[in-house]
Amino acid sequence: MKIIVQKFGGTSVSTLEKRKNVIEKIKNSIEKGYKPVVVVSAMGRIGEPYATDTLLSLISEETKKNNKQATDLLMSCGEVISTCVMCSELNSYNIKSVPLTGGQGGIITDNNSGDAEVKELRPNRIFKYLEEGYVPVIAGFQGVSNEGIITTLGRGGSDTSAALIGKALKAEKIEIYTDVDGIMTADPRIVGNASLIEEISYAEVFQFADQGAKVIHPRAVEIAMESGIPLIIKNTVTDCEGTIINSLGCSKNKKLITGITHMKDRVQVTIKGDDNKGNDRYENILDIMAENYISIDLINVFTTEVIFTIGTEDLDKFINIMEKSQIKYIMIKKCSKIAIIGNKIRGVPGVMARIIRALKNENIQVLQTSDSHTTIWCLVRESETVKAINTLHKEFQMYK
Ligand code: ADP
Ligand code: ASP
Ligand code: MG
Repeated sequence: MKIIVQKFGGTSVSTLEKRKNVIEKIKNSIEKGYKPVVVVSAMGRIGEPYATDTLLSLISEETKKNNKQATDLLMSCGEVISTCVMCSELNSYNIKSVPLTGGQGGIITDNNSGDAEVKELRPNRIFKYLEEGYVPVIAGFQGVSNEGIITTLGRGGSDTSAALIGKALKAEKIEIYTDVDGIMTADPRIVGNASLIEEISYAEVFQFADQGAKVIHPRAVEIAMESGIPLIIKNTVTDCEGTIINSLGCSKNKKLITGITHMKDRVQVTIKGDDNKGNDRYENILDIMAENYISIDLINVFTTEVIFTIGTEDLDKFINIMEKSQIKYIMIKKCSKIAIIGNKIRGVPGVMARIIRALKNENIQVLQTSDSHTTIWCLVRESETVKAINTLHKEFQMYK
């Protein structure tokens, strides 16, 4: 059986018009001899009635924080509605289809509501429907635990569902349909002339996704990489070939810099030794962060001070801990961590100098930097994110 997994994101299924394009894409793959397995996200984005964020706005902050099981159950409804609507429309085009929840599709998770880990995939039901000639339409982003609790896989998790199902069914390919032509050198909402990356390796795209490019979930990339199934990112409303993600990427014409992405909502923290004389807890600051499950990055330890960043979501917890430990600190809220992703950039002299010079010429203050073999990070103020990304995009001539 030649199986293809086709996943359609929230904007792709938001209106009747857009869902007609979805049906075209499904029909096309049937005509090419594939058995499609469809995965859908909740319809639309915040403000639209059945979008995940709209559903979330129906319950209190208290419930979201303290009753994660109820929150997951509510969030899972968005994808369930989407599958039923999609099947109803497919059936009206004489394409026999069947709606399935994540659990009915065999996605078995642990009980970690909001960020559940998939423990097992039992594809029997999907196979049975495929053999009977149905197109299974599975609710993305959700699973069920062995105790019967409905869970979600983390925001953006429908991509993960598609990759998992593709792996379990040994699909020939996994297509991820969205509202852009594929993976671009930068978010096209930020850089107007960003260009399409036609072919890219799993490793590079993982870096992109992990550093904030929302276009694909990093977990989905990992799963596709483990099974070697090509992932293709495409636009639901155009015929563009999209971006193909495989193990090689584009081996010819490899550019030094592949693209730029960013993560907002970072807070830079500086803790000075001089301000904390006689307080032993200062010496153990990194342990204190770990013990309290505060994830930190861009960590620079000097003889006189320690600098790192935390996520805004951990800020209240951080302030509390610092007060209790009587540690004095300085912080800059609302920062953006810009990631410049490339190939072996650490080995190429002058890249960091070029980045810093380009940003300085535009009067953008760089608060901190870090680098690895594939990525250079620059921390800037959130208000300068768009300018900084556009400046670097131009500096490395990544435009069309
Ligand atoms: P979906 O609902 O289809 O899953 P998402 O909103 O999760 O869609 O992801 C698509 C969005 O990702 C695009 O609208 C785009 O703004 C954003 N994006 C961020 N970085 C990139 C990039 N490098 N290339 C393409 N899109 C990107
Ligand atoms: N609807 C979910 C979200 O908004 C899952 C997804 O879109 O992939 O996060
Ligand atoms: Mg998404």
